[in-house]
Amino acid sequence: MAGPVLVIHGGAGGDGPWKGMTSLDPERVSCMETVLSTVGSLLSDGIDALEAVTLAVEMLEDEPLFNAGKGSVLDEGGKITMDASIMRGADQAAGAVINVKKVRNPIRVANAILQKGWPVMLNGDAADSFGIESGVEEVNSEYLITELRKAQWKKWKDTRSEIGSTDEDDAVLDHDLEGRVETEFSDDPPGMGTVGAVALDSHGILAAATSTGGMTGKPFGRVGDTPIIGAATWADANIAVSCTGVGEAYIRSCAAHELAIRMRMEGADLAIESTSVLDMVTPFGGRGGLISIMADGRVHLGFQTTLMYRGVWKNNEIEIGIGPN
Ligand code: ASP
Repeated sequence: MAGPVLVIHGGAGGDGPWKGMTSLDPERVSCMETVLSTVGSLLSDGIDALEAVTLAVEMLEDEPLFNAGKGSVLDEGGKITMDASIMRGADQAAGAVINVKKVRNPIRVANAILQKGWPVMLNGDAADSFGIESGVEEVNSEYLITELRKAQWKKWKDTRSEIGSTDEDDAVLDHDLEGRVETEFSDDPPGMGTVGAVALDSHGILAAATSTGGMTGKPFGRVGDTPIIGAATWADANIAVSCTGVGEAYIRSCAAHELAIRMRMEGADLAIESTSVLDMVTPFGGRGGLISIMADGRVHLGFQTTLMYRGVWKNNEIEIGIGPN
C-alpha cells in the first residue's frame, strides 16, 4: 500500500522573479509545518483521506495569512464571500459551498453536504444556514476580515481608479499583490492564497479539498473555480487534485478533471501531464498551480507563477516550498 500521503497548497501567484521569503512567510511556513505534521500523524493513526483533507484545509482556513476562512480577500464592496469544495475518490461523493459569509470553516460545510449525500452544492445564505445547523461555528465579518486584507483592498481600490484599468484587471489574483502593498503591519507585504489539500489514506482512498476567499476586488456574485467539482477539485479512485489560480481559466479548461482524464492513460507521467494541463489553462487568462496524488503514491506539485506555498508529508517526512526549487 502506497499511503498515507498528504499534500497541501496555500495558493499561487506572481509573475516576476522570486525575491525570497517575505517577513510574513515564516508564519505561513510554520502553519504548513503544523498542518503537515498534525494531519500526517493522524493519517498514520488511521483517519481517512476525507477527514484528513478537511482538517488540513480547516487549519489553513484558520491561519489569517492564507486567503480562505479568516483572512479571506475582500470583494469589490470590501466584503468577504468564500467558496469551498471537497471530493472523495472511492465513490466520487462531493460537496461544495458558494459565497458563504457566516461560517468559520467553509470546508467543514462542504464536508457536511458530502456526508448528507444530496445535493452537491449549496450557495449563499442557504449554505451558511445549512452549515450552522450542521454544527459549523458561526462567525461574523469582524472575525473574518483582517487589517491586512483591508489594506490590500484599499490598495486595489486606489489602483483600480487609474486610467486604463479594465474590468479584467480589476479582479486581482491575491498573490499578485505580493511586493506591492505597503502596510503598517509589514515591510514585506503579504502574498497569500487559496488553500487546498489532497490525501491518500492507509486504505488507498484518495480525497481532495479546496477553499478560498476568491480574488481581491471580485465582482458581487462572482463564483470562481474553487467550489466547482472538476475545475479546482477532483478525486476518483486513481487521483486527487486541488488547483489554485485565476478561477475563470480553470473553469473553462476543467483543469482538475482534465488531469484525471489524462492520468487514466496507461504509462501517463504525472509531472508531464500536470505541466501540460497548466499550459492548457494559461491561454484562457489563467496562471496558477495544482497539486495531486495518485493511488500508487506518486505526488506532483506544479505551478507557473512565481511562487506556490506548498508542502508534502510522506513517511513521516515533511517538505515545504514557496518559490521555484
Ligand atoms: N482560484 C481562486 C479563484 O479564482 C483564486 C486563487 O486560487 O488564488 O477564486
